[in-house]
Amino acid sequence: MNPHIWEEGMRCPNCQSENTRVIDTFRDKTGRVRRRRECRQCGHRFSTIEQWIQQLPLVIKADGSREPFDREKILKGLRIACWKRPVSATDLERLVDDVEAYIRSLGRGEVPSRVIGDRVIEGLKRLDPVAYIRYAIVYLGLEDLSAVRREIDRLLASDALA
Ligand SMILES: [Zn+2]
Repeated sequence: MNPHIWEEGMRCPNCQSENTRVIDTFRDKTGRVRRRRECRQCGHRFSTIEQWIQQLPLVIKADGSREPFDREKILKGLRIACWKRPVSATDLERLVDDVEAYIRSLGRGEVPSRVIGDRVIEGLKRLDPVAYIRYAIVYLGLEDLSAVRREIDRLLASDALA
């Protein structure tokens, strides 16, 4: 994963030309890099702010296709699993923050959806066992009752509830 630098408004706001030159570079009070630029086309002067964009890896789905990491999609699934459970919206935001930080930390361009799902499930298990089972039924595909019971038994036996 290569974070890259993106500069806002690198095109001349006057004539849309990309042919500009930097005439001054400095840091503003918030530590961001600002540049004064001049358009070679029309002579217009303007400034840009440089920002680090930390790209999230793409998600490799079970069918092999790729999609962007979708924070909202994960949150939606979690909210459904946590319906009427004592889990706050902040807890869920924090859980997704953790998942996001984790997949960034892998430093890969692509991450299998299972890696993300496992991390979500581990976090949910710590938050609320009932929500965890609901989530597991849907996302691990625990279709039959005995599979669900095995998972509950495993959970009851684990340290998570100790
Ligand atoms: Zn221009």
